[in-house]
Amino acid sequence: MSEEEKSYVFKIVVVGDGAVGKTSLIKQYTEGSFVKDYIKTIGAQFSKYIEEIEDARVKLFFWDIAGQSEFSFMRPTFYKGARAVILVFSLIDEQSFNNIKTWHEDIKKFCGNIPIVIFGNKVDLVNENELGDSKINALKDEIGFIKYYKTSAMTGKNVYDAFRCIIKELYDSVKE
Ligand code: GDP
Ligand code: MG
Repeated sequence: MSEEEKSYVFKIVVVGDGAVGKTSLIKQYTEGSFVKDYIKTIGAQFSKYIEEIEDARVKLFFWDIAGQSEFSFMRPTFYKGARAVILVFSLIDEQSFNNIKTWHEDIKKFCGNIPIVIFGNKVDLVNENELGDSKINALKDEIGFIKYYKTSAMTGKNVYDAFRCIIKELYDSVKE
């Protein structure tokens, strides 16, 4: 009998305020590149990527929503069938951190209880030693996310590990 490779398909939604780095993070993870100019995402876009985990082929669809509220009518379609969430805020934009709760309301409403990983992005622009974790720890009690990473879509710092974390979580939940 031939050894057939197992394969899985996951839809992962990437949410968070506009300009926090969602599109850049996906680009860094899937293509290993970074663009400095801000190209505003219109509506939603998705990227396909194949990752190997153990002996399985994991096909990933990342959905990246525009932060702008004029696209809120697309939200049900955007969230439909999502298996996990990457919730991004920017370490240099406090409002984007405060809005995590609003994004979480959306996730609960449209997806129920699915795994969430939080990315605090643009870590290259802050002094990491001055970042406290108390606010994010307080949020953990409220939201119950799996893990928090400080990432940089620009330098690539922690991007691979952070994406792998959510993908591994999904994979472990379904593998035979
Ligand atoms: P989105 O609206 O959440 O999809 O954000 P984008 O990925 O379009 O990024 C918004 C802007 O921030 C762009 O100009 C990016 O080049 C920049 N950017 C994104 N991530 C980082 C990062 O980690 N570090 C720095 N310095 N800039 C970033
Ligand atoms: Mg975008």
